[in-house]
Parts: sequence; C-alpha cells; structure tokens
Amino acid sequence: MKNPEAQQDVSVSQGFRMLFYTMKPNETSFQTLEEVPDYVKKATPFFIFLMLLELVVSWILKGKPPGRLDDALTSISAGVLSRLPSLFFRSIELTSYIYIWENYRLFNFPWDSPWTWYLTFSGVDFGYYWFHRMAHEVNIMWAGHQTHHSSEDYNLSTALRQSVLQIYTSWIFYSPLALFIPPSVYAVHLQFNLLYQFWIHTEVINNLGPLELILNTPSHHRVHHGRNRYCIDKNYAGVLIIWDRIFGTFEAENEKIVYGLTYPINTFEPIKVQFHHLFSIWTTFWATPGFFNKFSVIFKGPGWGPGKPRLGLSEEIPEVTGKEVPFSSSSSQLLKIYTVVQFALMLAFYEETFADTAALSQVTLLLSVCFIILTLTSIGFLLDQRPKAAIMETLRCLMFLMLYRFGHLKPLVPSLSSAFEIVFSICIAFWGVRSMKQLTSRPWK
Ligand SMILES: [Zn+2]
Ligand SMILES: [Zn+2]
Repeated sequence: MKNPEAQQDVSVSQGFRMLFYTMKPNETSFQTLEEVPDYVKKATPFFIFLMLLELVVSWILKGKPPGRLDDALTSISAGVLSRLPSLFFRSIELTSYIYIWENYRLFNFPWDSPWTWYLTFSGVDFGYYWFHRMAHEVNIMWAGHQTHHSSEDYNLSTALRQSVLQIYTSWIFYSPLALFIPPSVYAVHLQFNLLYQFWIHTEVINNLGPLELILNTPSHHRVHHGRNRYCIDKNYAGVLIIWDRIFGTFEAENEKIVYGLTYPINTFEPIKVQFHHLFSIWTTFWATPGFFNKFSVIFKGPGWGPGKPRLGLSEEIPEVTGKEVPFSSSSSQLLKIYTVVQFALMLAFYEETFADTAALSQVTLLLSVCFIILTLTSIGFLLDQRPKAAIMETLRCLMFLMLYRFGHLKPLVPSLSSAFEIVFSICIAFWGVRSMKQLTSRPWK
C-alpha cells in the first residue's frame, strides 16, 4: 500500500528542510523506486536562493562578495557536467544497488518503518565517510574527487563543484546496505546526504555551539577544504562528524585556512578541472619503475612515491603563508559580463532539457548535451584567455544557430526568436573576426 503522506511535489518548506536533512520519515518513505522524487533536481531554486542570500549576508558582514565570479562559474559548470550522464542512464549508484538487492538480499526491511528510515540515514552516512576517506587516500579515486577540492574559494557555489567520475567508485561503499534496505529508501537518503552538504560550504556561518559535536558544520568542512598542513586528510564526514571523532580523523578549525589543492591547477577549463589528475596518474604510472610501484601509484595515496609511507610525507605538502593569491581570470569586465550572459542562457537550456527529457528524441538530447559541453568549455577558454578561445566561441555560436534553426533548441521566448538569431549572428561575426585575426597574427593575449 502506498504512503498517503509522501508526495512527489516538494513544497517551499520541504525544499528548505530537505537541504538540512530535516524531512520527516513519513513524508519521505516510498514503496517503489519510481515514486521517489528527484530531490536534487527540485533543489535548484533553493540553491539559487541560498547563494543570493549568502552574497547579501557576505556584503553586510564583510563588505565583499563570498567569492569570485570566474571560480563560481567553474564550480557551477562542474555541477552541470556531473549531472549530464543522468540524462541517458540511471546512475551506477542505483543500478548496482538494485542488482544486489534483487539477487543477493538477506532481509527485506519494511520500507514504511521509521526504524528503516533512521537506519538508512546512518548507513548511507557511514558509507559516505568511508567512500570519502578512500577518495582522499587512494590515488585513482582522488582523480575523481579532486574536482570538488579544486576551488580556491569557499562558498555555496563550491558545493556544486562535483566530479563526473566519483560515482563510479562511491557505489561500492553503499552496496552492503542493498542486502537489507529497499532501494526506494536508499534512493531518498542518497539524495538527502548529498543535499545536506550544500549549506556547509560557506564562510558566513561561524560556529554552531553544541551542534559542532555531532554534525558536520561549515567550520568542520572548511578544515576539510583547507590546504594548510593541519587540514590535510581531515573531517571526511557527510552529515555526522561523529565518524571522524570515532576513527581519528577529526580536526577543529584554528588558524586561517587557505583553500584548494596543495598544487593549484590554475585553470577554469571544465574538462581539465574534471580529468587533469587522470593524466597525471598516467604519466606517473609510466615514469615509475617496477610492477609493485606502478600498482602503488594507482592504489596508494596521491602523495605517495617509492620509499615513502602509503599516504606520502606531510613535510612535502607546501607550507601556506596566508598570502596566497588565488588564480584569477585576466579577462576584461566586458568579457566577464558576456560569459555570464552566455552561461545563464546555457543554464536555461540545461534546465529545459532536464524537464523535457522524456519528450526529446535521442538525437536532440545528444546534440543538446554536446552544445552544453561546448558552451562550458568555451566559457572556460574565454576565462583562461586561451589562444584558441575566439575560434572555439565562433564554432559554439554557429552550433547554437544551427540547432536553433533545425528545431533542436527551443526559443526561450518564442516572440523573441528573430532577435535571438540576430544577436547570435552578431556574436558569430564578432568572434569570427577575432579568430581570423588570431590565425593570421600572434595569439590573442
Ligand atoms: Zn574531500
Ligand atoms: Zn566540500
């Protein structure tokens, strides 16, 4: 029998409560997986509202924005990229879970019992702790997770800087739950565990008193994102900080934190942000002599090298001075405004593509995804001031116009359809001239 209190639609109150994991078991228990709402998709307006609120609060408290535009665009780009595979397939975190549940389950815990709900809450969070810890301690898993740490700012947009690769290893850590927890209950908590981690990415909340003992808070997670030596490999928690306290990885916030990777990647190009460490592993793998050493390059810590302990040497982590200058785009203000407008248009198409997935043909879906990836890459090139940026942007504007003409992209406002075409034709002409100049003279600086 269905649960009459569980609903597909999310009210405003539920939207905020789901971001803080304060939804009640009876409103979020579903009998079948098909009934479970896509809470992550429904969270978008609440993300936007809280990011704007953070901007206002930061201006009031500190007199400055919580971060930089180029960094925030790159973070949101990573969030968009990480969601694209779900347009085509059910995530491996769910497919593997369903397979184990259908073939190997030992018990069938009741889907509508609050005990099952609380047990799954703890089980998913425990699985997350170990996944997250291994994602920092095993180099090949770090290749995915490093994306999330590559921002040198720390604000709500950083939470959206998600990895495309991460889910291909995280499913392993949740699979024991499939021996007894129904997939419909697991699917709810998998989403809530992720959503909870949004609000803790902020500097505007200082200390939450006694809550700091039990919960993962902005203060604890700031430590996790630090590249100061005292922050490395600390505070892996998702929701409950007690796991770090139990397993000895807890560290309280004390000296000023410098955020980001120990060796910053210095780029806003989204494909590099996602995959650069895989290339680094590849080159290290071939440069390292001996079979066991090669094996260790993949499965030991990212700081490991021959003769070193499994997680590398802490003295090799560069010391921070507090005077580090984060990598910034050297593009003009006008170009930044241009990238924001193009980014906003792309987000509107992205939202529409997700809303319409079932109605779109596979060809339209594939072309839309290619267009989104090209847009993100081109914006990254423009922000990085790459020599090929103008050529890339000309091609992207051309692709936009073609997709628009052949009906693969719907006009945002139908009555403005011809205005859109004129604007994009001007963009093609502008970037086309720039790319011709680049091809015939020295690279654009
Ligand atoms: Zn991490
Ligand atoms: Zn984080």
